[in-house]
Order: sequence, then C-alpha cells, then structure tokens
Amino acid sequence: MIIVTEINELKKLLNNKTAKIGFVPTMGSLHDGHISLIKKARKENDILVASIFVNPTQFLAGEDLSKYPRKDEADKKICEFCDVDYLFMPDITTMYSNDEVLVKAPKLNSFILEGECRPGHFDGVLQIVLKLFNIVNPTNVYFGKKDAQQLSLIRQMVNDFYLDVNIVECEIVREIDGLAYSSRNVYLSKNERTEALKISQAIKLAAKLIGKGELNVDIITKEMQRSLTSEMISIEYIHITNKNFKSIKTVEIGNTIVLVAVKIGTTRLIDNIWI
Ligand code: AMP
Repeated sequence: MIIVTEINELKKLLNNKTAKIGFVPTMGSLHDGHISLIKKARKENDILVASIFVNPTQFLAGEDLSKYPRKDEADKKICEFCDVDYLFMPDITTMYSNDEVLVKAPKLNSFILEGECRPGHFDGVLQIVLKLFNIVNPTNVYFGKKDAQQLSLIRQMVNDFYLDVNIVECEIVREIDGLAYSSRNVYLSKNERTEALKISQAIKLAAKLIGKGELNVDIITKEMQRSLTSEMISIEYIHITNKNFKSIKTVEIGNTIVLVAVKIGTTRLIDNIWI
C-alpha cells in the first residue's frame, strides 16, 4: 500500500486508462462499517483507493471537528490489511484554498432532516466529494446506506453534473447487539452505549410493524417515538420517507426509508432501515 498526501502524486499513480478503480472515501477512525465498504470495493475493482480526510466544510460551528476521533496509525494498518493500493490522506491546505468555487446542495432535499439539524452540512459534503471524484476519477465509488440522505444527494450531484462514476450502495453494518457502527460511538459512556441500543430497537420495531401489515406512517412514527422515549435520549427526528426523500403517508414496500437521529448526551447518532 502506498500512502499519498499530494493530489498530483495520486493522479500520476492512477494514470492507468484501462484499470477499474474502486474508491472508498472516509473520515477515518475506521470501523467494521468502513471495512465492509473497502472489502466490497477490493473484490469489484482492479485498483483500490481509500481516502481519510476529516472534511472541515461539512462541520458546523460548534460541532465536533476539533475532537472528531482520529486514529491514523491504526487506520493505515487496517487499510494495508484490507489490501488497499493507495491510501489518500491529504491535509486541509492541500484540499482547500481560501476563496474557491462552491458547490450548493439542492434546496429541497438538503434542508430537511440532517440538513435541517445541520444547515450547510451537505454543501460541504458535496464540495469534498466532487473534489475527490475529480482527483481519483473512480469507476466505482462506495457509500454506506447509513448516511442515506448523503447518498441520495451524492447521486443527485452525479446526475446533475453528468459525472461518470458508478455509485455502489453498501448495507449498514451493526455490532452484535444492533448498534450501527459509527466513528462517534467512542464518545458514548457505558450507560449511554446501553441507551443507544434503543435506536436500532426502534428501527427494528418499525420493520416489525410494517412486516405485520401496518403501513400508516403516523402510527409507525408514534410507536417508534414511544420506544425511543428516555431521559437520556433527545430525539432530533424520526422520519419515514420514500427513497427520493419525499414525504409519504403510507409505507411503499421497496421504496421507503425509516430514519432516526438522536442525541445521547452530546453525541449525535443516526440510523435507518430501507424497507
Ligand atoms: P464516514 O467516515 O463517517 O464519513 O463514513 C465513510 C463511509 O462509511 C460513508 O459512506 C458511510 O455511509 C459509511 N459508513 C459509516 N458507518 C457505516 C456502517 N455502520 N455501515 C456501513 N457503512 C457505514
């Protein structure tokens, strides 16, 4: 594995016109969720590029940018073990200048849910993803369904800007007890970690209700709200939407996502299930 910090160096290394390039962009602090993306990308491509970059433009003032968990040395070992060819780890000044052309996420879908809780977040996500796509020029790029709204907006950017890249959606990976892997799980105290199980339980409850034939979005949402109620949990949203993030009143099997965002203490966690 070659660790690359400079854009031109990576471009030179990837200057193979015929190879299938798989790309897994991450913010590091790698866990089994990231590893599943990397392994899938390894199988499906000739060359595998992963990136680790904690992107400042997607953090709002007051968010956890400066204390976002980092474990670069362990991450390098994980990537090497997963047979990554090139690990791109640029610094902020390599990726950004002071005054640059900006990407604006579409108004409707970027100011709901995550975008309502984190206004401007998706502008920063799309900005960095576009830069990375242009540097790596991947054939296939791998994103987790865990960040469902991010995935949908990246798809839209690929369509709207006619980008020549195939987006591969990857399943959410969970710990044995159901908690979705997240780099932010390390912030949780023991008690908070136990309370956090209510998130995946609420999602499972929704799936169970839908499985029994309950398709009314209001009823499912209320049941989820009840199951998530706890002194330690502050619910940011429970939302059931179609895959284009349009509101629905009735669950459409095969075209529905049940989403949850909560704060436990100061830690913000999201999860979802695709029905
Ligand atoms: P991040 O490092 O949080 O920006 O995540 C990098 C990629 O890993 C994104 O495409 C995420 O959706 C994906 N990811 C994060 N957590 C999980 C998980 N538990 N299961 C599957 N993919 C995940």
